[in-house]
Amino acid sequence: MAILPIITAPDPRLKVRARAVTKVDDRIRRLMNDMLATMYEAPGIGLAAPQVGQTLRVIVVDCAREGEAPQPLKLANPELVWASEDLLTVNEGCLSLPEHYADVARPSEIKLRYIDEQNEIRELHAEGLLATCIQHEMDHLEGVLFVDHISSLKRGIILRKLAKAKRQKSPVPA
Ligand SMILES: [Zn+2]
Repeated sequence: MAILPIITAPDPRLKVRARAVTKVDDRIRRLMNDMLATMYEAPGIGLAAPQVGQTLRVIVVDCAREGEAPQPLKLANPELVWASEDLLTVNEGCLSLPEHYADVARPSEIKLRYIDEQNEIRELHAEGLLATCIQHEMDHLEGVLFVDHISSLKRGIILRKLAKAKRQKSPVPA
């Protein structure tokens, strides 16, 4: 398994709509496994393929608490089939917006349909942090970041800070 470089905002590659996976084959399974390894290494609780430069509808999540056994989920072409009216507000972060957090309200419970790593269609019911995490990762497939859910003022502050942090990264000497 490989650790993949994670793209950080602002970057046009994070604003693109990802295309559907036609079949979960060995190539997609390898991508899912590499994404999970990258997510655990970061560490994070979710990662979407566009964050590692693949414009494919693939996400991985693991919302197990510290001390619990890992609960990795590998989802291709996830689609919401139902979302609750009840909302849950979570202070969200993102591996593509390092060190920035903001409160985002999303449906507290969802049902989704997806293709698993064996190329089988499955359904999943999720609530609480898992529901938040899956919706956050699904947003990435539409080119949407968590800062797109907050005020443009706050979003501007975060994106300007990230752009500045990028400029200050010293270039690698040739
Ligand atoms: Zn994210």
